[in-house]
Amino acid sequence: MTGRAAKTGTKKGGKAGAARDVAIARALEAWFAASARDLPWRRSTSAAGKNGATRDPFGALVAELMLQQTQASRVAELFPRFMARFPTAEALAAADERDVLAMWAGLGYYRRARLLHAAARVIAAEHGGAMPRDVEALRALPGVGRYTAGAIASIVFGAREAMVDGNVVRVMARLEADDGGGQRAAREAMAWERAGALVRVAERPGVMNESLMELGATVCTPRGPKCGACPVSSWCAARKAGVQDEIPSASVRKTPREVYHAVVVVRDARGRTLVEQRGASGLWARMWQAPTVERDDEPAQEREVRESVGAARAERVGAFAHKTTHRLVQFEVWRGVMKARAQPRRGVWVSEAELKALPLASPQKRVLGSEFVR
Ligand code: SF4
Repeated sequence: MTGRAAKTGTKKGGKAGAARDVAIARALEAWFAASARDLPWRRSTSAAGKNGATRDPFGALVAELMLQQTQASRVAELFPRFMARFPTAEALAAADERDVLAMWAGLGYYRRARLLHAAARVIAAEHGGAMPRDVEALRALPGVGRYTAGAIASIVFGAREAMVDGNVVRVMARLEADDGGGQRAAREAMAWERAGALVRVAERPGVMNESLMELGATVCTPRGPKCGACPVSSWCAARKAGVQDEIPSASVRKTPREVYHAVVVVRDARGRTLVEQRGASGLWARMWQAPTVERDDEPAQEREVRESVGAARAERVGAFAHKTTHRLVQFEVWRGVMKARAQPRRGVWVSEAELKALPLASPQKRVLGSEFVR
């Protein structure tokens, strides 16, 4: 971070600042109307129009939770399938958790699916199946924080509420050339304050909010912002100072912790597969998997793997690494062979059809596919 970029930005108070805010908000709203990507959750549905909504409120909740940690292009692929299966909060509330997790497959971070399921149950039980409009009631829903509540209140119900995610923080930091002194919390606080000011003068608060996010996702991108195509470049302090590539300053990233998962795939003479369910908390909570021996320091050895399920033999058939937010999981895949009529020490046998219906995290899908053990 250079001294130039570290300087506090150009936020102006008084009339000049207010006029600048109005100009920025108008430019963003006009740009969004002309340039927004066509994404499935932005399309109007029959559920829009009820309760004063401009968009299906339940679809907006589903999309926002999906978008929290998954790229929009991936969500665009999987959102229609999920909505076709669970078109309303009541439909989702009545579903079995296993089905919900199975329909979430491909999106990762399954905790969000459980929170969405719990939120649907609250909407069905306490709000008669209709999404609450008020920010405080929205924030009381499981999985709904300040950002998601602001998104639904403004985009669906037109409330003057800000919504700030990583994209908006970056756009605001550049627009104001204010890096928060290199402190993430200070940068976020500034972004909330500035986004709040813009939404207060917007003609359509939801459109203004979405346009800020869209700008961050498509134009004011983390690397190489396309300032030439930016609707607010005339007011952008970072661009004027030529420091757009230096803001926000890189935060120090922690190296993910390396852990080892030895997975043993066991099939019986009837073609059934041995599986087990993970614990109720932690990584991939309550998902299903082939029996797995987890170690923090080094991979489990052959004997440990074999004895973990009571197999007569275990043969190492492959390995791969899987990255999560905080961990680098080194998977080692083993094929276990049981003695005839021997009972496994853990897990349950499932048929191929049952296996397909189980919620499996993506690395376990890979383990149980045909890549390693046929
Ligand atoms: Fe971002 Fe460039 Fe637009 Fe400034 S002018 S907001 S840096 S894309």
